[in-house]
Amino acid sequence: MTNSEAEKIIERLKNGCGQHRFDESGVWKEYYRFLLKCNYTAMDEAVSEALEQDSRFAPAISALSKLYREAKNTRRTDVIKNEKYCPVCDDKGFGFVTKKEAMGNYVYVLYCPFCEKGKSFAYDGRECKDKSLYHVEPLTKYYSEVEIKEMRQANLERWEKREEREAIAMEGVIEKIGVRI
Ligand SMILES: [Zn+2]
Repeated sequence: MTNSEAEKIIERLKNGCGQHRFDESGVWKEYYRFLLKCNYTAMDEAVSEALEQDSRFAPAISALSKLYREAKNTRRTDVIKNEKYCPVCDDKGFGFVTKKEAMGNYVYVLYCPFCEKGKSFAYDGRECKDKSLYHVEPLTKYYSEVEIKEMRQANLERWEKREEREAIAMEGVIEKIGVRI
């Protein structure tokens, strides 16, 4: 997470817990250092969980770390759904790009920055203090505005057809069971 995200988490812990020692600069720094290595969304969930369990005292880093790992493991991207259909990625949350490299062509996964599901795939290891190589880039980095518009249009057309098909299929089901609307 970024510096400001780490501050947000510490602020949540300060406000949410009856007792904390964040006013001591050594304590504050230690939490800060730990938080910078973590993913913000998962940590935010871990804090919610910690506060739910016991909001009298600020959770120790060890307790927070455990809850964080749990939150990270249970955060499955397929659980996150878009409220509104995203025509850029067809609600998948990601797309691909083929890059030519010395060893041949490589296919990379890109996240869709236009929807919630897509954003759940975004992970920037470079933001963390211990530099991670794992890094997913947004579709917009490799596709131009025009190309994205084309994707959006093509998916929207397919989606409308699918909706039609589903409506027709539904009508068939309703007829079969003898109910008319
Ligand atoms: Zn999308």
